[in-house]
Amino acid sequence: MNELDLLRQGGVVGGGGAGFPLWKKLAAPADTLLINGAECEPLLKSDQYLMRNYPGQLIEAASRLAAIVSAKEAVICLKDHYGPQIAALNGALKEKALTPPVRLHLLPTVYPIGDEQALLHSATGRTVPPGGLPGKVGCTVVSVSTALNALRALNGKPVTRRFVTVAGEVKRPGVYCAPIGMPVSLLLEQAGGPIIPRYRLVLGGPMMGPLAAEGAENVVTKTLGGVLVLPAEHTLVRHAELTMDQARVRARSTCIQCRTCTDLCPRHLLGHPIYPHLTMRAFAAGDKLEPSAMLCMECGVCELYACPMGLNPRRVQQMHKAALRAQGEKPVFELKEPPALAEIHQAPSGRVLARIDAKRYDMPVPEEAIEATSPIVCIPVKQHIGAPAEPCVQAGSTVQRGDVIARMADGALGADIHASVCGTVERVEDGMIVIRAK
Ligand code: SF4
Ligand code: SF4
Repeated sequence: MNELDLLRQGGVVGGGGAGFPLWKKLAAPADTLLINGAECEPLLKSDQYLMRNYPGQLIEAASRLAAIVSAKEAVICLKDHYGPQIAALNGALKEKALTPPVRLHLLPTVYPIGDEQALLHSATGRTVPPGGLPGKVGCTVVSVSTALNALRALNGKPVTRRFVTVAGEVKRPGVYCAPIGMPVSLLLEQAGGPIIPRYRLVLGGPMMGPLAAEGAENVVTKTLGGVLVLPAEHTLVRHAELTMDQARVRARSTCIQCRTCTDLCPRHLLGHPIYPHLTMRAFAAGDKLEPSAMLCMECGVCELYACPMGLNPRRVQQMHKAALRAQGEKPVFELKEPPALAEIHQAPSGRVLARIDAKRYDMPVPEEAIEATSPIVCIPVKQHIGAPAEPCVQAGSTVQRGDVIARMADGALGADIHASVCGTVERVEDGMIVIRAK
């Protein structure tokens, strides 16, 4: 079986965002393979844990994936203050000669340097054109957890676990190794539970993770990097809960068109023609949609770090982007010269953390990950971009950990789904396969 088939059948998808199937990403050749070890979102520690504890596997994975895309080299990109991770990876690189070779690139400690376009620019000096993907400039970017999952899949072991950072107002914050499909409520229970009475959950990092709907049960998926427990009145919760009508009233009365949101926008700093202050102007006036909103990657710098008035340009960008997409708009943008002083306009990670009032939740990278166990798992058949996988088990089926329980049609965009525990299938419904562990 070829390597791309092994990755598809092993269920390997991108560890963040929409879960892009890795086999599809690696089907296109590239001259450089970049491993994204920035762990961009403040508070998350899982990738730092993996880089420090599995350096040998990571450099092997990087070289294997580079070979698949015919790259000349693999570059592991991580922040310049990740001392133990840098030491561990350098130690592993000294022990093993790899072909294609692997080297490290140290990133500045700014947010969002883990944005694949910012990372790629830092590591190679190339700029992805606006609206384009890394492949346009000969690069493929893969996250740390995805690369390690890929190595396992190439050795016949499918994805059944996810390292998840649990942080915030919880008794035992840490990095948890959780079975895919574990209810988040049970994961929180194993972390000792919330330590405040009124809280909200953020699924992912504090800057980009969505607020979990109140009362809804969420589960650990292949793309869930973190669970944060925040006070119900926390600034991040307040921003996320604002209605668009409220946001418009505030924009009308308070946006001073200072353009700080634009001047500090990381994509603007790369030379992309994106102007959140113009979107805010159009939004406040109830005017036409601002096309450059389509270039927004929703990092939150404009909203949670830049705006001196505490307004919501990111939310407005999201709204304009969605409306433009719904209208089928496909504007073409041209790359510009990056603004002067782009480097000094980058947002230092520590100041971002202070600005969002989350410094008190920052923890050191744990020595050990905590193994989470779950008596029941609810595994979605769609944890990736593309079509859902087709269930191939039914109620009453006995499964072993690693068995395929939902399969993709040959060539369809997606990845197979596997049982994350040994047990019996209780039901298959609503896009979910529920397994009771034995
Ligand atoms: S930074 Fe805030 S006040 Fe200034 S233009 Fe942007 S949204 Fe308006
Ligand atoms: S969220 Fe704001 S800062 Fe981030 S890319 Fe979009 S407009 Fe730029």
